Amino acid sequence: MQVAKTVREVRAWTKIAREDGKTIGFVPTMGYFHEGHLSLMRRAKTECDLCVVSLFVNPTQFGPHEDYQRYPRDFARDAAMAESVGVDLLFAPEVEEMYPPGYQTYVEVTEVTRRLEGAARPGHFRGVATVCAKLFNIVQADRAYFGKKDYQQLKVIQRLVRDLNLPVEIVPCETVREPDGLAMSSRNVYLKPEERQAATVLYRALCAGRDAILAGERDGAKVQRLIEQVIATEPLVQPEYVDVANAESLEPLEALQGEVLLSLAARVGIARLIDNVTVVVPEE
Ligand code: AMP
Repeated sequence: MQVAKTVREVRAWTKIAREDGKTIGFVPTMGYFHEGHLSLMRRAKTECDLCVVSLFVNPTQFGPHEDYQRYPRDFARDAAMAESVGVDLLFAPEVEEMYPPGYQTYVEVTEVTRRLEGAARPGHFRGVATVCAKLFNIVQADRAYFGKKDYQQLKVIQRLVRDLNLPVEIVPCETVREPDGLAMSSRNVYLKPEERQAATVLYRALCAGRDAILAGERDGAKVQRLIEQVIATEPLVQPEYVDVANAESLEPLEALQGEVLLSLAARVGIARLIDNVTVVVPEE
């Protein structure tokens, strides 16, 4: 596995790959890898000739009072894990390489960023869209792999790629969970043991919502209340929002039909966790 710190090195590497007629699969990450990240890398390896991973804790997607400084980082561990699944190139730039002095260009995706994480974290998706547009231009991959764990992010990136005609195919990947259902996340390291146990209520609550829909519930507000009630059984978990939306537009849904997104954000100790499930409402 090769490690690149500069845009120049990546461009030189990908130029050779393209001249050799190789396809490139790209996995953008903020590092501190877990099985969720590795599943994206493995999929990229099976579907493309070469796999490029970026490791960059992107400052522009963090709010001023968020966890940018304390976000977990361990380059040696990440490099070993990426190498173990066959990653070909690991791009790990410094902040100054991505945002040199004088930097002033940002990408904004409007409608699909208004609610949910976009509302809870002002400026977050502007940072995400900007860094992904830059990374797509630097790596020039054939396909880029994104986890449904960050469902709204996936929708934002799909919109970005369509709207700006970026020549990359976005591949959505399933959320990888711990055996007890907790969605894997780099931020799970913030959880104390009893908080880690309490956090399992999030996926249980989402599953209860999904099961209610599959059992015939068609009232979005009732499904939302049901999810909230399950979370309320766990005093260590403070929900920030619980939402029932159209899975494509992310607009709120009252009468459930089509594909529905059940999503939530919650505080557990110092950790802010997000999770979601989608469910296709059965035809009557
Ligand atoms: P991050 O490093 O958190 O920015 O995540 C990098 C990529 O990994 C994003 O596309 C995430 O959606 C994806 N990802 C994070 N956690 C998971 C998970 N538990 N399962 C699947 N994909 C994930």
